Amino acid sequence: MTNNQLTFQDPVHRFPDITPPKQDQAEPGLDADLIPQTDRGEESYRGTGRLEGRRALITGADSGIGAAVAIAFAREGADVALAYLPEEEEDAQEISRIIEASGRRAFLIPGDLRDADYCTSLVEDAVSQLGGLDAVVNNAGRQIAVESIEDLDDQQWEATFDANVRAIYRVTKAALPHLTPGATIVNSTSIQAYAPSSHLIDYASTKAAINNFTKGLSQQLAPRGIRVNAVAPGPIWTPLQVSDGQPKDALPKFGKHTALGRAGQPTELAPAYVFLTSAESSYVVGETLNVNGGSSPTP
Ligand code: NAD
Ligand code: MG
Repeated sequence: MTNNQLTFQDPVHRFPDITPPKQDQAEPGLDADLIPQTDRGEESYRGTGRLEGRRALITGADSGIGAAVAIAFAREGADVALAYLPEEEEDAQEISRIIEASGRRAFLIPGDLRDADYCTSLVEDAVSQLGGLDAVVNNAGRQIAVESIEDLDDQQWEATFDANVRAIYRVTKAALPHLTPGATIVNSTSIQAYAPSSHLIDYASTKAAINNFTKGLSQQLAPRGIRVNAVAPGPIWTPLQVSDGQPKDALPKFGKHTALGRAGQPTELAPAYVFLTSAESSYVVGETLNVNGGSSPTP
């Protein structure tokens, strides 16, 4: 029988210590073309009924962490609306197929989160297709490495902030009228919020903003029975890294500096999102769950 996330196992060796070859994909990148392929829990994630009957909207759900979360949510009993960029249709179709094979429904709603109208229509479409909304995962993110601030132009600065921060504000605001007590919001921040890389100053700033937004909004919405939390991944092997998310020379050593000595796989993030979405975390509010293989420093 295949190991699953509940199997007693050594975290150092649960997944191989990968040394990815230098490679390049046009932004936003596809899981389908990534070398080596990632593990999103397709074969291994075992549901235990934690999200039975939930209706979830997940952004950036076609690939990487968002795809792993979508698969896990479906295995835990949720129907899922998947948001992603139109160029990512191939990856989204694959995740949709896996969700349907898990016995749940998947709804595909492509678009660009930098577009204010899409942020609103995405939520409205998700609500009408899912028949309501109980969980939002604001996971989409744009990361383009630029070595020097002199080369970081306004266009990139704005695109990164629009996709990473402004879209979370807009999607959350559009979702709020549909959320009832018990509903949850989980935002994807990053270790970059605490330990910024010199070549990611725009991206890292957005991740610090997401963390802060999460904590402030959680205080505002908790009295209404809506919990807001965040997950801060460390180095996780996903298409983000090869579509200019990292300098090319950095790819072969990606994640090797962590205490576990290897990059994380997307499926290793999924249980954190499941926990923060499930009622078992009812007293967890405004928390940032670090899932980073022991990267330091974290607070
Ligand atoms: P990924 O490339 O698989 O997912 C990112 C997704 O964001 C894309 O699939 C795309 O659908 C979406 N996206 C980007 N720009 C968009 C736009 N303008 N409109 C709509 N959607 C857009 O990579 P991932 O690593 O799984 O990233 C998921 C989240 O995790 C991101 O927020 C990222 O910042 C965060 N994160 C990743 C790592 C890591 O090491 N991979 C570390 C920390 C945080
Ligand atoms: Mg993608």
